Amino acid sequence: MEISQELADAINDQINFELYSAYIYLSMAAWFEEHKLPGMGHWMEVQVDEEFNHAMRFYRHIVERNGRVLMKAIAGPETEWTSPLDIFETAYKHEQVVTERIYKIGDIADKQRDRSAQNMLNWFYNEQTEEEKNTSEIRDQLKMIGDNIQALLMLDAKLGARAPAGPVPLTSIMPNPAPAGAP
Ligand code: MG
Repeated sequence: MEISQELADAINDQINFELYSAYIYLSMAAWFEEHKLPGMGHWMEVQVDEEFNHAMRFYRHIVERNGRVLMKAIAGPETEWTSPLDIFETAYKHEQVVTERIYKIGDIADKQRDRSAQNMLNWFYNEQTEEEKNTSEIRDQLKMIGDNIQALLMLDAKLGARAPAGPVPLTSIMPNPAPAGAP
């Protein structure tokens, strides 16, 4: 089944939005470095790689189905935040927007009975559950921490241990990489 123009357009827009997401998270990483929270900066750098991988997964889907990938200008990200809590609150809200956008792509795939796109999108539904959980959990921990600097530095150290993102996906339906040490 050939990919429809409507679906290809929506996925092209999403490639752009995932790259925009990477750009936002890189902007957040830079803010953390500037404010001497390198662990949170590292966490955000891993997130940048994840967003690039999301863009590539959508890219592969269009390529695999002989559609046309069209690059567009990436919007400039925010650069100013008031606190780590402000950043993770923004990140959580951003991921909710991403989820809604991907659901809308799913609506198009459903309407067209495009099983191939639905299969590709299933990975993203799970991924978005994870993204919303991760960002909201850190936001909630930052709320608990309040202005306790010691606790903030402990969380920074913990987030600095985030494992690197998996490799760039070679196909649009590549499963998540196995955890380190798995056979
Ligand atoms: Mg993403």
